[in-house]
Amino acid sequence: MSVTLRDGVRIEAEGVGTVVADAAAPDGDVNVTTHAHGDHLFDTDAAPERVVCSTTTAELARVRRPEAAFSVADYPRVELLNAGHVAGSRAVRVEGDERTYLYTGDCSPRDRCYLDGLDPVPADVLVIEATYGTPAYVFPGQDELERRIVEWLNDTLDRPVLLFGYALGRAQKLQRLVARSDRPRLFVSEAIADLNAAIETHLDVGFGATEYDSLAPEPGDAVVLPIGSARLDFVDRLVEERDAVTAGFSGWAVEDSFRYRGGYDEAFVLSDHADFEELRAVVDAVDPDQVYTQHGFADEFARELTGHGYDARALKEDQTSLGQF
Ligand SMILES: [Zn+2]
Repeated sequence: MSVTLRDGVRIEAEGVGTVVADAAAPDGDVNVTTHAHGDHLFDTDAAPERVVCSTTTAELARVRRPEAAFSVADYPRVELLNAGHVAGSRAVRVEGDERTYLYTGDCSPRDRCYLDGLDPVPADVLVIEATYGTPAYVFPGQDELERRIVEWLNDTLDRPVLLFGYALGRAQKLQRLVARSDRPRLFVSEAIADLNAAIETHLDVGFGATEYDSLAPEPGDAVVLPIGSARLDFVDRLVEERDAVTAGFSGWAVEDSFRYRGGYDEAFVLSDHADFEELRAVVDAVDPDQVYTQHGFADEFARELTGHGYDARALKEDQTSLGQF
């Protein structure tokens, strides 16, 4: 068996074949897309004919890759599990002849807004994300985080707020939090509105947001925008002319530098990834013989796990990691 990282995660599973997950140009016997974030999604011109993914991820992939031709497939011994990261996100469990493999993709075990968290299942080999795989990143409880945000939305009611988060994931949760606040009007960008529509079709959730044409927010308005637009000129203009307050939302907001780097007036911890303790708990629940870590603090998290008796290593691109079985 081998698990490698080369344009996605490649798992050679005995009796199943090569399972390729989250590749830009997937070429496995089985191709999996765990969720529709850009760095996990296939390229338009390299879309595989058959993709293992949730119907929600397929719909979101069609929004983001409108020209791509693919159909949703399933295979025996390849099972999708809720990953709790963003709408439609799944982990994948592969039942090889000799071992079972679990690839989490991006994951969170927390129930948040309309998402249920990842429920880990046992596997012999675990490939787990490690975005926040170091002890500095332990988040407060979800209720507490959400309460702080809603309180702030109410405390600043006499001004418009511009809320920045990833267009898929954070943006939808921010809309749900605005709905819980006293703010009467909610606007979103076109990109977020398109993703909202796809999610509303598949999940039992409504966002109640209006896509704006030209942005001229009034006091009391909330505007949810893609995080990449935080440094654009129009934001400065709205701050100056409309007295808008800006806020960024991320797990990285644990560090003060997140607010300064983004130029936000306020920053709040709100994440679609597991924090350090949650990652540890996922590993313990899966109880694997072999762990591969990837993304973020992959080296640190592998060392942490090794210290707790696991056979763990960071998965690096272009480096074969043959198991020692
Ligand atoms: Zn993601």
